[in-house]
Amino acid sequence: MGLEDYQELRAFLARFGRRVKLLKGIEGLILILLCALLLFALGFAIQELQPLFPYAALFYSIVTAGLLSAILSWTLLRGLRKVREETAALYIEKKCPHLKNNLINSLQLYPQIAIERQPAGVSQSMVLALLSATRKQIREIPVAALTNSRRIQTQTRLFSFLLIPVAAAVFLHPTSAGKTFKLILHPFADMPSAHVALDVHPKGTRLLRGSTLAVTAATTGAVAALSERHRAGSDGSLVHSGSPLGIVSLREETCTDCGACTAVCPTEALRYEEGAGGEAVVSFEAAQCIACGNCVPACPEGAFETLGVRAGVELAALATGRIVLKRAASARCRRCGAAIAPEAMLSRIRTLLEGEEASAPLLATLTELCSDCRALG
Ligand code: SF4
Ligand code: SF4
Repeated sequence: MGLEDYQELRAFLARFGRRVKLLKGIEGLILILLCALLLFALGFAIQELQPLFPYAALFYSIVTAGLLSAILSWTLLRGLRKVREETAALYIEKKCPHLKNNLINSLQLYPQIAIERQPAGVSQSMVLALLSATRKQIREIPVAALTNSRRIQTQTRLFSFLLIPVAAAVFLHPTSAGKTFKLILHPFADMPSAHVALDVHPKGTRLLRGSTLAVTAATTGAVAALSERHRAGSDGSLVHSGSPLGIVSLREETCTDCGACTAVCPTEALRYEEGAGGEAVVSFEAAQCIACGNCVPACPEGAFETLGVRAGVELAALATGRIVLKRAASARCRRCGAAIAPEAMLSRIRTLLEGEEASAPLLATLTELCSDCRALG
């Protein structure tokens, strides 16, 4: 007696459990797609970052794999976990206050009266009446109304919203999309060579603390292959007429530090500055030189091949940054003490005008007074 009611009650709870698991599965699936979409979009930024951080692809690949596996495991765990009948009954009673205690009591008391004909403190007829009433109540409740799918709708909306810009980016840059997959699947493809070999000469040499250690390094991998193909120097420098960068060389002995070359340099690769001690400084930044060659004809000391430019890339120079090519003390005005011009330049003027008596007063004015004092007379 009452078995049919009890079985219907359990079937209702089982239906509810299956629906909860289905919704959790859909929720997890949308979350996976959402994360995959966001990680895919992140791939575009990683491509830009990789030249600066060669390990960015590796981190990206690890984060992508870790995050997606974590969400997948979490979804499977939630989907496979059994929804207990008691938990389901209490949840449904919370949603439907008119069922308060009927569901859980029917579920727990019927097995007692089914096993023991007259259990202590429990009236058999009351349990059967409660079971029958509860059965009627649950027949009026659709299982779908008990579960909430609002979270799934929000996630779906967010996914559709994000899909539009990502799809547009893929449509406009299909190659970048391919590169993103390459970053995930082959994170080691563009990694710098990790091979470092140290040979000590003579073998077994021991170094005292504080003594100087000279290390000679040789490149391997892609850089070495490129260097070999273009017959580069052992320091990794490549001289090529098509190079977008240039390397400037200056003969210190003949350079007068006049600064004419710096005045015509369009990129400030060559720069003229006053040093801390008032000296004239000509410096050069290899990364800024575009090998235009403007500076060479501007040099008044061209007869001595003072300045030269060759189209090429010198890894060591690029890594070093700005270097001083020429530093010369400045002559001071005998009246006010202001800087007139680099000593080397004035000395060159003296050499050129040497022996010309007519130009002696002009020479004295030019080399001993600054422009302001010259104007005062
Ligand atoms: S080659 Fe052009 S960019 Fe390079 S230092 Fe000379 S003027 Fe400047
Ligand atoms: S390289 Fe030539 S132009 Fe440049 S500072 Fe020296 S002398 Fe002047």
